[in-house]
Amino acid sequence: MKERIVCYFSAAQSEQPIIYRLVKDYDLVINILKADINPQKEGYLVVEVEGERDKYKQGADFLKNLGVIVEPLSETVVWHEEICIQCGACPSFCPTEALFIDRETMEVSFDNSKCVVCGMCLECCPTRAIQLHFEIKEAVR
Ligand code: SF4
Ligand code: SF4
Repeated sequence: MKERIVCYFSAAQSEQPIIYRLVKDYDLVINILKADINPQKEGYLVVEVEGERDKYKQGADFLKNLGVIVEPLSETVVWHEEICIQCGACPSFCPTEALFIDRETMEVSFDNSKCVVCGMCLECCPTRAIQLHFEIKEAVR
């Protein structure tokens, strides 16, 4: 199984070799997507975790017993209208018409409520006007 999760660490937890333990003791493959730590040494890691289901559960229990808060990753797509050059490429990649062309004005727009975060549009944009954002708790920023 493969899951993307966010782990929130206290200052004491951030000094422990937690990733090393997940790899060594539970045979999990950890891909760190994003990480940050604040001046109080509290932090978070956005990771993709891959491994056998039982090992994944054991690894999750290990984190829980340490007091690390684990949440499923919440992602959202953001369309930056101000840097969109209206090239018209992205709507043809979007399966839900979240990115669409208004046939009257021929302008591209984005309807966030239709986006299923499939990621199909991210690579096609020449100006990177479409970006993937991870939703992280304000408290640890
Ligand atoms: S992530 Fe997928 S659904 Fe969302 S705007 Fe891009 S292509 Fe459309
Ligand atoms: S691909 Fe990028 S620049 Fe082109 S219309 Fe879509 S958001 Fe705008």
